[in-house]
Amino acid sequence: MKLRLSDTLKRQKVDFVPKNPQRVTMYVCGPTVYNYAHIGNARPVVVFDVLFRLLRHLYGEEAVIYARNITDVDDKINQKAMAEGVDIDVITSKFADIYTADMRALNALEPTIQPRVTQNMNAIVAQIAALIRNGHAYEAEGHVLFDVESYKAYGALSNRSLDDMIAGARVEVAPYKKSPQDFVLWKPSKPGEPKWPSPWGEGRPGWHIECSAMIEANLGLPIDIHGGGHDLIFPHHENEIAQGVCAQHGHSHQEESYARYWMHNGFLTMDAEKMSKSLGNVLLVHDLIKEFPGEVIRLALLSAHYRAPLDWNNDLLVQTRKRLDGLYEALRKAADVPVVETAVPEAVIEALCDDLSTPRVLAELSALASALEKASEADKPLAKSQLLVAGALVGILQQEAESWFKGGADDDLSAKVEALLEARKTARAEKNWAEADRIRNELTALNVEVMDGPAGATWKLKA
Ligand code: AMP
Ligand code: ZN
Repeated sequence: MKLRLSDTLKRQKVDFVPKNPQRVTMYVCGPTVYNYAHIGNARPVVVFDVLFRLLRHLYGEEAVIYARNITDVDDKINQKAMAEGVDIDVITSKFADIYTADMRALNALEPTIQPRVTQNMNAIVAQIAALIRNGHAYEAEGHVLFDVESYKAYGALSNRSLDDMIAGARVEVAPYKKSPQDFVLWKPSKPGEPKWPSPWGEGRPGWHIECSAMIEANLGLPIDIHGGGHDLIFPHHENEIAQGVCAQHGHSHQEESYARYWMHNGFLTMDAEKMSKSLGNVLLVHDLIKEFPGEVIRLALLSAHYRAPLDWNNDLLVQTRKRLDGLYEALRKAADVPVVETAVPEAVIEALCDDLSTPRVLAELSALASALEKASEADKPLAKSQLLVAGALVGILQQEAESWFKGGADDDLSAKVEALLEARKTARAEKNWAEADRIRNELTALNVEVMDGPAGATWKLKA
């Protein structure tokens, strides 16, 4: 099956051909760890997790190397550390751990590697030195700047000309810059800020060079896929290309010598407004996972095509929970049906290979669930197994159906409900209808819905 992806640089859907199918590389810009991730930040995590799973499926688990960095050097981290009177690593390790746990709750696999800026300073300094050596960067007043005029293809990713950029610029104009568009590769730290040694004095790197240097050092150039949210196209990824291409010895100014495919997810909005800290409309993943199962949040994030905007609201979560209830209901009815070895259904692979069409995958999953419900006894094992392997490829449906419906109930509550159901069974056997009704009311008060079936009563927490 041919994988086709929308490439931001080529501005079209293209066939994906890895440089080396035995070593497929992907890099996605990760979090700056100084506070909690909001649900918009989780969109690239979940989208590229689906791509990671698909690539592993197509090329083999061992063949795919997925790197997502942790930005642990940044002005906002410095500000927070200073405000709290602690070292930056107190802040960064706390929020990196929270991030890992929150993303795990959304069933996102851990990337193969998670490079940190603090552990890649030598690589960063080496890439800046190469840029100076190759005539693409210059030192001025303790800063090192990238000389944008020296790279003719600058603007290719974001489709802007240098003149447009200068005209519409909101960039910092500094007396030591040759051109206002030149951006910082290295800068001196202010007193009290963390600093690292370099040939240009003690200081710290700019944001863009962190990613391009970590990519070169940890994955090697060129990588196959570079991803992130579409707000990163300019300036972050534009600057990454300039650095990554120009740092290479004897480079040919070919953008593909840095990353062969560029992918960007659309924005998550709330009431049609971009979710962002400055607008004050953020929903934290950390809070949401206390209210909804991670699987509901994950599937809600996959309900729209990754390049389209996604409006986040309560209705989306309620509908997604219903959808998952339906899929798990089919599995619950087939709880005793054995699982057999089977391939992921073609239609699911086809949908994913068509630029990760997750809305189509959702439709296929519903079709597989109803096929399971309608299947003859003889066909049920295959139908159940197909639903399960298809779910696994997008990171859902991997828990026992029974525990899905009890999701959110802690052990104490489960034990209490089981005891009440036993007591109700006894009351019914003794034809003590008043007692049976009383117990049912008690269950209702616990927000438990009881479903009586031929094999006895089952229960779930009401949505
Ligand atoms: P940041 O911490 O702002 O650098 O963002 C981390 C990642 O989340 C980047 O890939 C951003 O593009 C992405 N991102 C931030 N806000 C949103 C949003 N509202 N919707 C989708 N992606 C977002
Ligand atoms: Zn980056």
